[in-house]
Amino acid sequence: MSGVLVVMQRNGADFHRMSWESLAAGQQLAAQTGQNVSAAVVGEAGQLAGKKLERVYSVQHQLLGAYTADGFTAALEQLIRKINPSIVLFPHTYQVRDFAPKLATRFNQVLVSDAVGFRVESGAPIFVRQLFQGKLNADVKLGGGEPHFASIQAGAFRADQVEEAASQVENFVPELSPDIIRAQPQEPFRESARAVDLTSADIIVSVGRGIKEKDNIPIVEQLAKALGAELAASRPICDSGWLPMERQVGSSGQTVSPKMYLAVGISGAIQHLVGMKGAKTIVAINKDANAPIFEVADYGIVGDLFEVVPALVEEVKKAKL
Ligand SMILES: Cc1cc2nc3c(=O)[nH]c(=O)nc-3n(C[C@H](O)[C@H](O)[C@H](O)COP(=O)(O)OP(=O)(O)OC[C@H]3O[C@@H](n4cnc5c(N)ncnc54)[C@H](O)[C@@H]3O)c2cc1C
Repeated sequence: MSGVLVVMQRNGADFHRMSWESLAAGQQLAAQTGQNVSAAVVGEAGQLAGKKLERVYSVQHQLLGAYTADGFTAALEQLIRKINPSIVLFPHTYQVRDFAPKLATRFNQVLVSDAVGFRVESGAPIFVRQLFQGKLNADVKLGGGEPHFASIQAGAFRADQVEEAASQVENFVPELSPDIIRAQPQEPFRESARAVDLTSADIIVSVGRGIKEKDNIPIVEQLAKALGAELAASRPICDSGWLPMERQVGSSGQTVSPKMYLAVGISGAIQHLVGMKGAKTIVAINKDANAPIFEVADYGIVGDLFEVVPALVEEVKKAKL
């Protein structure tokens, strides 16, 4: 067995954004373990054909038109048995959470889920997973036989680091019969259209519970305005109705990767970090020097936001004159 196989997820006509992050992880893992890397997708290969891959497997079958755990598991099991990779990577999406543990079990393996990184020791990967809401990191060494299965956390790798080159596409038609598919797929759930698209913002000023009350929101709004930034928030702010839900960043909100993310009065809980740690530059303002947000911040200001933010607004305005 050898090679890394990245299983991509389609999102309608496009790919799920996290698929590209997993592909970057797969390319890096392959380079560090001296293996080749291929990708598989249920559906058309599309843009995958332009990525630096040994091969792209486009898994095609009329019973795979709509997602079902039974169908995807059976099809991917057949593909994996055919190509014998040593490691299979997935993006840690809701769909992957649904079928990948079942797929791993078909090979008597477990899924190392939601990995935030890996390192290679004696040619073998050791995956890093977070425990207790990100307070501890655990190294997961893969024992037993191959293939090994792991899913990659949102934002852990950068989609823009995927290496490009022309790759060979091969269609794979699994043998499937309707009786193995027990679920009857309905129309996929669609979120209502968002009025605010934080994903395309260059600068985001994000506010957390440190702001204390709704009436104080204009303090950070002024900073966002001065910087030409979008305003975003941690979950408690949106749960309280102080800002609309569509401005929430995190595991149950939007995932953003702006040029600059300014976190104001946000502690840096793991559910928030997964939504913003892909930002190029992270600036944190927090009065607690031990707040976890400082672990991911490039620039940190330990101080009272009610003093720091108005002073910053003044400085930004002066700099613009
Ligand atoms: C299933 C699940 C999904 C979740 N999804 C999300 C999600 O999508 N997004 C999300 O954000 N959270 C999410 N959460 C919640 C998450 O666990 C945290 O509770 C939340 O992120 C904390 O928000 P916060 O940082 O604003 O508040 P807190 O953790 O209360 O932090 C407030 C921070 O403000 C600082 N502060 C206080 N006063 C000042 C001041 N005057 N000046 C400067 N700093 C000050 C404090 O030191 C503190 O660090 C989720 C939780 C679960 C269980």
